[in-house]
Amino acid sequence: MERIFKTPPALVCRNNCGSVLRLEDFFPELYFEGITRECPTCGQKIDVWSHAIELLQKKAQLFRNKGAAFIGGEDVSFTFQLPPNKTVEVDLTDYGVPDDAKLIYVVYTPFAGAGWPIEMHGNQPIQHRTTNKMTFFGKPMPKSGNEVGGHHDVSMSVTYIPKSQEQTPFTNLANAYELFMLDKFSEMIIPCAVALEYSIERVTAYSLQASNLPDNLKPSKRLSLEVILPLICKTHNIPTLNNEITELVIRLWSLRNQMAHDGELKQHLTHAEASKILAAAMFCINYFGFLSGRVQNSQS
Ligand SMILES: [Zn+2]
Repeated sequence: MERIFKTPPALVCRNNCGSVLRLEDFFPELYFEGITRECPTCGQKIDVWSHAIELLQKKAQLFRNKGAAFIGGEDVSFTFQLPPNKTVEVDLTDYGVPDDAKLIYVVYTPFAGAGWPIEMHGNQPIQHRTTNKMTFFGKPMPKSGNEVGGHHDVSMSVTYIPKSQEQTPFTNLANAYELFMLDKFSEMIIPCAVALEYSIERVTAYSLQASNLPDNLKPSKRLSLEVILPLICKTHNIPTLNNEITELVIRLWSLRNQMAHDGELKQHLTHAEASKILAAAMFCINYFGFLSGRVQNSQS
């Protein structure tokens, strides 16, 4: 269990700088307040929205996984020993990954002397993994057995999304993210929409109640997003959600209707557009949390 590197939700400065920055220093509070901070290393402003879109539009999963930080995604890297022709179990909970976390991305790098990690399965291989315990067989490689200092190191990196207290929206967004990583763009639409529909109903009812307005009218989600929540923001002097994200959320709901009513989308959803829609869903969920907090503060 040696050499564990854990990164909480982070972003990497893309101004030719590469500094790893704590996401919470930039997002969500400051971002939704309209405050743009600079990178402490290079001094350039960090545009969090563009950063998210750029990550999600990467073809390689190695970079695309980093966008999960916007819904709490974390990274952990560690090494374990896998001698050739041996079987080894790795329990990710030993490395700080909760057993109910959603795994978004996993990569193995065996070093000289180790066996090549073959992930083993039971006698029903099509079943999805139900725990975050993995068993590996070390397939001999040409250099297996030439241990470096007696070690058979395999490096393993995992990106995962822990369960949140806001279970329904975050579970659905984590499922959407997993589908997005697999290029299943049309299939991510329904879980994205479910996450937002669940949340907007609650944030609208809460905001109306806190503003001493009738909260039992069950307005449509578009009426809530485009009229009621902006009016509540005006009343309490809270920044509104920007137009680009609002329009993308409306586009998501239109795609959701196509999927729910016709079983498919009228047009192919490109990776570029899917990236913007997923980013908008993740930012919108965070905005609802920000808005609830500000409405609550305005009462005290
Ligand atoms: Zn920088």
